[in-house]
Amino acid sequence: MTSIDTALGRLSTLLGSGGVLSGADVRARMSGWGSQKPCEAGAILRPRSTEEVSAILRICSELGQPVVPAGGTTGLVEGHIAHGDELLLSLELMNRIEEIDPANRFAVVEAGVPLQALQEAAGRHSLLYPLDLGARGTATIGGNISTNAGGNRVIRFGMTRDMVLGLEAVTADGSVISAMNRMIKNNAGYDLKQLFIGTEGTLGIVTRAVLRLREAPQSQVTGFVAVPSYRNVLTLLRRIDRGLGGMLSAFEVMWKSFYDLVTTEPAKNRPPIPADHPFYVLIEAMGGDQEADQARFEAVLGEALEDGLIADAVIAKSDAERAALWAMRDDVAQVARFWPIFTFDVSLPISLMEGYVAEVEAGLKAAWPNERHVIFGHLGDGNVHIVVGVGEAGAAPRERVERLVYDPLEARGGSVSAEHGIGLEKRAWLGHSRSEAELALMRTLKAAMDPKGILNPGKVLGPAGRPH
Ligand SMILES: Cc1cc2nc3c(=O)[nH]c(=O)nc-3n(C[C@H](O)[C@H](O)[C@H](O)COP(=O)(O)OP(=O)(O)OC[C@H]3O[C@@H](n4cnc5c(N)ncnc54)[C@H](O)[C@@H]3O)c2cc1C
Repeated sequence: MTSIDTALGRLSTLLGSGGVLSGADVRARMSGWGSQKPCEAGAILRPRSTEEVSAILRICSELGQPVVPAGGTTGLVEGHIAHGDELLLSLELMNRIEEIDPANRFAVVEAGVPLQALQEAAGRHSLLYPLDLGARGTATIGGNISTNAGGNRVIRFGMTRDMVLGLEAVTADGSVISAMNRMIKNNAGYDLKQLFIGTEGTLGIVTRAVLRLREAPQSQVTGFVAVPSYRNVLTLLRRIDRGLGGMLSAFEVMWKSFYDLVTTEPAKNRPPIPADHPFYVLIEAMGGDQEADQARFEAVLGEALEDGLIADAVIAKSDAERAALWAMRDDVAQVARFWPIFTFDVSLPISLMEGYVAEVEAGLKAAWPNERHVIFGHLGDGNVHIVVGVGEAGAAPRERVERLVYDPLEARGGSVSAEHGIGLEKRAWLGHSRSEAELALMRTLKAAMDPKGILNPGKVLGPAGRPH
């Protein structure tokens, strides 16, 4: 009997009917968002409580059995990928919203709650859970926490890290760390929740969380503008932020290449502004008075238009028009049109972005004259996504493209992962953004918390070598 069979024997008894999926039930699932490859995990474990997660890890720790935590499997860096000798531990049955506390403005949830379910539950109490991203319907709170997800409103509310007041996690040996803090301020010793935020399931499995809620906005104003130069994009960001007096909640930039892609057939979106400008920006403000905020928004954009900062603008007049503007930004699936693709999620101080992008584009064009790429993203946070198709797939072109994207980034002190994490996909490049001393301390932490290396092995820190 292999060790995975031994583990599964004990785990089936522990989890009972429906608690373990195997064989065809595993292969019926895809390995991740947009993937055509079936899930390869040895089995899928579906605990229903923190106690069950703890018992699973006690057994797996004893047997040295690797475990890969998973939420909605929408992660974009192969962090949730499990191989045949690994068990996928899905939090999908731990999906209860335990409490929404309007007076203290927090929610208590299990890790498997989909992001959108929490957004909607908070909304029913006139509260806002500010995290928002395209995969909202499927991505889970546990996955958001483990990747420290960013998304569309970071410029106003910060990343997931800024929304987590407390959490509960189970470490590799099955210990339950209950750090379910409910206060905004708590400096009593080490802030242990940070060990589990953004560490991609390599130090523990997040089972529950306390999340900070905000007052739901009473107004939402969404505009879309064309900008004649990158310099103007930078000036516009400051002008808008100042002009809106703290209401700015999204500043999403599309390079013309992305705008063209998402507004031409077979994409369903129609271009709200002619496609002959180099940059487009989706701007959103959230405030307290629809009429006054709309007027202020219009005045700020009007001034920018008069000064030549922007070349054209539309402002959504209804929820349907707002949704149509966001649908363009969220229509990332159009990149499949130049499959096979390589995707990137980088960050830099925004003043360095123009030179960086020019260098990447020149490098790609020199190597593959017919390459196609698009650039878009949360530029207000210094974060862009680059998707590249060079007409070939495989390790060699991947590495060449990665070098062309990451070397100019390293030279400017940027990050190879702004918000998606490292997973398997980016671990070879982690050293481009982290010093030797930082990497050594990460390895020390991993060895201390997971000495047998059973939690999401190979993710983030390696060892290098498991093929994609
Ligand atoms: C269309 C689309 C748009 C996206 N937009 C954004 C965006 O704007 N910003 C952004 O940051 N990301 C974005 N993403 C990426 C993705 O949605 C996020 O990373 C999300 O937080 C992942 O959640 P998940 O539940 O799907 O996690 P999974 O994909 O299942 O897992 C992600 C990682 O977290 C670990 N993990 C999952 N659950 C747990 C747990 N309970 N405990 C410990 N570890 C766990 C996994 O092992 C893996 O390493 C997007 C993805 C798609 C498909």
